[in-house]
Amino acid sequence: MRMMEAVPATEVSSMHCGGTIAHIYEPGDVGEIHALIRELGDFHVLGGGTNTIFEDTTIAMPVLRLGSEFTFIELTEGGVRAGAAVPMKRLLSFCIRNGLSGIEFMAGIPGWLGGALFMNAGTPARGIMDVAVAVEAVDRSGVCVMQRADLDCGYRNGGIAGKTVITAAVLRLEQSTRETVRKAVLPFLAQRRSQPRGYSCGSIFLNPEGSAAGYLIDQAGLKGLRVGGAKISEVHANFIINDRGATTSDIKDLIRQVKARVKERFGIVLREEVKIIGH
Ligand SMILES: Cc1cc2nc3c(=O)[nH]c(=O)nc-3n(C[C@H](O)[C@H](O)[C@H](O)COP(=O)(O)OP(=O)(O)OC[C@H]3O[C@@H](n4cnc5c(N)ncnc54)[C@H](O)[C@@H]3O)c2cc1C
Repeated sequence: MRMMEAVPATEVSSMHCGGTIAHIYEPGDVGEIHALIRELGDFHVLGGGTNTIFEDTTIAMPVLRLGSEFTFIELTEGGVRAGAAVPMKRLLSFCIRNGLSGIEFMAGIPGWLGGALFMNAGTPARGIMDVAVAVEAVDRSGVCVMQRADLDCGYRNGGIAGKTVITAAVLRLEQSTRETVRKAVLPFLAQRRSQPRGYSCGSIFLNPEGSAAGYLIDQAGLKGLRVGGAKISEVHANFIINDRGATTSDIKDLIRQVKARVKERFGIVLREEVKIIGH
């Protein structure tokens, strides 16, 4: 098993902020994952780090990240089985090449399959769990296969318990043609072009029931609000952009100010979508 010490959090989070991660473990098979999580007790699972920021301090909590052994993609009868460390972009390219339809809506969403399943990532209308058939994982009791029908998924929530390491998933996809799938991806990619550029974690807040966090933040007049190197994007108010070497403390301060102002103006309490690790 690989183990890295003193890893700058800036290198493993798309927000490019945070302190130093004392240890990142990269187990190479399910047996190693099981042995590791039993030994560690508490730990954090990291995927592509596109929805995660780390505190500015030294992160003593061990971080577990799957190694390249979990980047396989194989065809199955009704779709694919893929490892949890497969980047979403690679999975989508594989589907296009093989004319498999079903995850076109994931186009442009960064990160890895494991993180997407945990978050039930997707668009406002759909999430990756809509196409999942089964999720393979390891927890303290050993290897398990969870059927999608048994998971209580919802908006940005795959229904998978914490301290469970997702290792792979079977996705149900429709056989189509390469050209049809390629064309179906284009509108999703086009929508992405209007998203803010720069270091971010995508949407910072979950959309409250019946509304959109970005709309509320915009209506509260907070676009462009800045704390240190972090600012509310002028392009999309639900994005915080790190454009001048922001610390996690800057970002948390900005989050606090936005929550207070939106609560004051609309009586709505925003909840973070981004995961802040180390506090
Ligand atoms: C520019 C940009 C645009 C984005 N647009 C969207 C969007 O349109 N829709 C959307 O839903 N999201 C979006 N995101 C957020 C993010 O990309 C998704 O949530 C993504 O699926 C997270 O995957 P990840 O591998 O980076 O997860 P990470 O950030 O590494 O982890 C996220 C969570 O998943 C858990 N996790 C990760 N891997 C595993 C595993 N193997 N087993 C168990 N738990 C695991 C982590 O512990 C953490 O709680 C965007 C982000 C960016 C930067």
